Amino acid sequence: MSLPILKFDAVVVGGGGAGLRAALQLSEAGVKTVVLSKVFPTRSHTAAAQGGISASFGNSEEDNWHWHMYDTVKGADWLGDQDAIEFMCKQATDAVAELEHYGMPFDRLENGKIYQRPFGGHMAEFGKKPVRRACAVADRTGHAMLHALYQRNVKAQTHFFVEWMALDIIRNANGDVVGVTALEMETGQVYIIHAKAVLFATGGSGRIYQASTNAFINTGDGVGMALRAGLPVEDIEFWQFHPTGLAGAGVLITEGVRGEGGYLLNANGERFMERYAPTAKDLASRDVVSRAMQVEINEGRGCGTNKDHVLLKLDHLGAEVIDQRLPGIREISIQFLGIDPVKQPIPVVPTCHYMMGGIPTNYKGEVLDGVDEKVVSGFYAAGECACASVHGANRLGTNSLLDLVVFGKSAGNSVIDFVKATPEHKELPENAGAYSLERIAKLESTTGEKVADVRRDMQICMQQHASVFRTQKALDEGVVKMREIYERAKNVVIEDKSKVFNTARVEALEFLNTVEVALATMIAASVRTESRGAHAREDYPDRNDEKWMKHTLYYRDGQRLEYKEVHTKPLTVDYIPPAKRVY
Ligand SMILES: Cc1cc2nc3c(=O)[nH]c(=O)nc-3n(C[C@H](O)[C@H](O)[C@H](O)COP(=O)(O)OP(=O)(O)OC[C@H]3O[C@@H](n4cnc5c(N)ncnc54)[C@H](O)[C@@H]3O)c2cc1C
Repeated sequence: MSLPILKFDAVVVGGGGAGLRAALQLSEAGVKTVVLSKVFPTRSHTAAAQGGISASFGNSEEDNWHWHMYDTVKGADWLGDQDAIEFMCKQATDAVAELEHYGMPFDRLENGKIYQRPFGGHMAEFGKKPVRRACAVADRTGHAMLHALYQRNVKAQTHFFVEWMALDIIRNANGDVVGVTALEMETGQVYIIHAKAVLFATGGSGRIYQASTNAFINTGDGVGMALRAGLPVEDIEFWQFHPTGLAGAGVLITEGVRGEGGYLLNANGERFMERYAPTAKDLASRDVVSRAMQVEINEGRGCGTNKDHVLLKLDHLGAEVIDQRLPGIREISIQFLGIDPVKQPIPVVPTCHYMMGGIPTNYKGEVLDGVDEKVVSGFYAAGECACASVHGANRLGTNSLLDLVVFGKSAGNSVIDFVKATPEHKELPENAGAYSLERIAKLESTTGEKVADVRRDMQICMQQHASVFRTQKALDEGVVKMREIYERAKNVVIEDKSKVFNTARVEALEFLNTVEVALATMIAASVRTESRGAHAREDYPDRNDEKWMKHTLYYRDGQRLEYKEVHTKPLTVDYIPPAKRVY
């Protein structure tokens, strides 16, 4: 069956912060660009970002990008690529100023400069004391950013295909990427989008876990598509657990609460972070705080009848500060738990939040294949679905929004160069689209399991076997179980076979991506016998630089792993050598 073909210079898959920043760069340069998005762009998960975006303006106290770079390298537990980290931190102030010029209404100081709040792991003087580096729009920073970027794209005449889901990458015999297949949800029609360049900005995949701060659409589609197209995923064993998910609900309570002076308490009313991180205390980096909380809970000092959470106290900040700087979290706490943080502390637990790994790229946003980092012609990625890798084994709060705009723009610039140098579209392979149609047809078999059942088992398995603390036994069992679940996923079916707005079909196709990410995570985690950043092994409590200072590459084919070197050459400054990570 031949599918309808639509032709663009560039297709951007994803309308979150990274996709919109990239698309803006392209449209402003006159590149004919379409953005595909499963949801209206301003409903992407970026809209949920609360706390802020980092940039070393030093508006309240001295700061500079060298310190920001140092903190990011250290936060990443030395698994980040230092060329990419330098690139990002150095550009942060320009990137934020640009957003401000686009109309993003940042909070202000009395003197008119952008207000900045402290955030976990962001320190002055190479790790000596917390510094104010997070620029914020109250606790709705991502929302403001996404709207500013969307409006600029409308002005630049970017094309939007809203409620379209990309299904698979199309590669030619040479391995070059020449387009994607995509499902128009409204009609159920599958199209081929033929493009000179494909840029993925599909966001994270927090939905592999049971407890997650992530939106339901964060299903790892970009990673799933890349894996199916024979490309690897990098450092996928590293998942960030945010210390303060609302107990029972998973909804995020921003780290900005602690930035503004809130702190954590155990059942004895003790401010326990003072024991785990004497200098940074509650503003140590996220992996450190999440683990400390889990230890408190595991050792019986959790709060509530089930002793299964700790408390986040902020009533001492006063109603005025809370209403001005943190109105969103007050609303969330009241709505979900009936608790007003102006009067009472909020019950919180560590909750899956962010995917550090992703599609391997360099700092130009070009996708890289293999240990020798061969550039995949025509393929780019940015944002949470990509691994540049600036976050290494653990991301610092507010560094993701920064990553979106810096690498969105940078990938956009690379696509512009590529499109200019590529006068003609490369030909589509003869069977383009057949694979996607086969996958859809398979879902309509008469016998098989329900998506919801297999997905639930996957989420329970990930939560039980690859969460905040990990052991060989738990991971090995997890690999066996996940492989079974993965086989079951091959036989999921949908009952509703209608075409128009068939959400069951979309969910099934999403799940087939999510399960790829889950299996990759479990396998990669089971092999890394050290503790680094968010990958905390009870049986291997120390970081092992001699053996493990290397990036994991996981391939779907044969479920195999390879390892590649960490980039140790920054662009202009000296290498920051590994040190013990204390806060
Ligand atoms: C609750 C929460 C709060 C956060 N707060 C902060 C913060 O304060 N500061 C910070 O730096 N970071 C924060 N983060 C992290 C940060 O917000 C995310 O990492 C970032 O927004 C991801 O942006 P993105 O552009 O990569 O993807 P997203 O914003 O997730 O967008 C993904 C896009 O891809 C589209 N898409 C996906 N798959 C397909 C497909 N198959 N076909 C078509 N379209 C597709 C979606 O429709 C969507 O438009 C937070 C994260 C969460 C969950």
